[in-house]
Amino acid sequence: MIKFLDNKFFCYLSIFLFLNTSIPSVKSASSLAAWAIKTNGVLELRTKSNTNLKAYFQKANQIYGDRFWVDFPGELANPRKIKGNGPIKEIRLGKPNNGKTRLVIEFKKNTYLNPLTWRMVGVDQNRWRIKLFNPKYSFKKIGEGLVDKKTRNTKANKNSSYMIKRNHDYLQLPKVKQNKFSVIIDPGHGGPDPGAIGIGGIRETDVVLEVSKIVKKLLSDKGVKVKLTRKNEVDLDLFPRVSIANKTNADIFVSIHANASRGKRRDINGLETFYFRGWKGRLLAKKIQKQILRVSPGSPDRGVKQGRFYVIKNTRMPAVLVEIGFLTGRIDARRLEKTTHRKRLAYAIAKGILEYLSKVG
Ligand SMILES: [Zn+2]
Repeated sequence: MIKFLDNKFFCYLSIFLFLNTSIPSVKSASSLAAWAIKTNGVLELRTKSNTNLKAYFQKANQIYGDRFWVDFPGELANPRKIKGNGPIKEIRLGKPNNGKTRLVIEFKKNTYLNPLTWRMVGVDQNRWRIKLFNPKYSFKKIGEGLVDKKTRNTKANKNSSYMIKRNHDYLQLPKVKQNKFSVIIDPGHGGPDPGAIGIGGIRETDVVLEVSKIVKKLLSDKGVKVKLTRKNEVDLDLFPRVSIANKTNADIFVSIHANASRGKRRDINGLETFYFRGWKGRLLAKKIQKQILRVSPGSPDRGVKQGRFYVIKNTRMPAVLVEIGFLTGRIDARRLEKTTHRKRLAYAIAKGILEYLSKVG
C-alpha cells in the first residue's frame, strides 16, 4: 500500500454515464454547467445529460499541491482561476486540449485527504457529487452556477425537436461509399447450442442475435451490403459460417459473442475483441473495441487480442470476434439483458466497422 501511495498517480477514478446513444461532438460547448464545493467538503457538479466524465487525483509534487481534477467533454469558453479557502488553495477551470474542459481543485499543503475512498456518484442524469475532504476543515462554499437546477423534465425532453435531434445524432455514423462494401455478421451459436448461459438464465444466442440484427440494419442504412450467417435459432456449424464469408468474397467478417467466466464469477466483467492475422484484422478489432467500450461504462477493457478461433482463422478476409461482455458478470449481465444496451452495442459495432471501411476502403 505504501508503495502504491508513492506513485505519482496514486488514485484514478473513472466515471462514465451514458443515457442514450447520442455521443456529443467534440466541438460542442463545455458540458460542465455548474459546480460547487460545499462546506461539508462535497463537490457537486451539474453537467449536460449523457456526459462522460473522468476524474483524477495526483499527489503533490514540487510545483503543485495535491490535485483533484475532472475532465468534461466540450470546450470551455473562458479559462479562469478562483482563489480557495480552508483546505483548498485554488480552483482552476481550463481546457487541457481543444474540445475539453478541466476543473482542477488544488489543495493546500498538509491537508489530510484519503482519495482511495473517494467515489463520484451520479445523483441524477446530469448531477454528480464526490466528497473530497472532512467538514472538520472550516471552509466557505465556492461555486459557479446553480448545481441544483433541474434540467427540463423528461416529458419536455420528449418533444419533437428533441427527438429529431436524437435521431439525427443517431445517424451520425461515418459515411462510406454506397454499395461498395460487403460485410458478414456472424451471431455466435444458435439453435441447440445456446452458447454461454448467464445470470438469470440469459442466453448468449439470444443476445448476440438481436445485436447482430441491429448491426445489420444500421450498416444497410449506410449502403453497406450485409449478410447474417444466421437469422434465427438454427444450428449452424462453424464451417458454413466461414464458407458463407469466403464464397461471397466479403470485405470483412465480424463474429459476435458474449462471454461467460469459469465458475460463473460475478466479479469478472469486460469486453474484448480478437483477430487472427494481419494489420487490417487488428485495425478492425481496435476500431470496434474502442466503440463498444464507450457504450459500456465501468466494464473493463480486456483489450484487442490475437485469438485462434476457427471462424477468424479460416476466413480469408479481415476477421474479428467480438465479446460484448460477460453474461455471468454483475455489471455486464444486467445491461446485456436490456434491448437499450444491445442497441448501443450494435451502434458501437456498426460505428467501428464503418470507421474501418472508410479508412481502409
Ligand atoms: Zn460464444
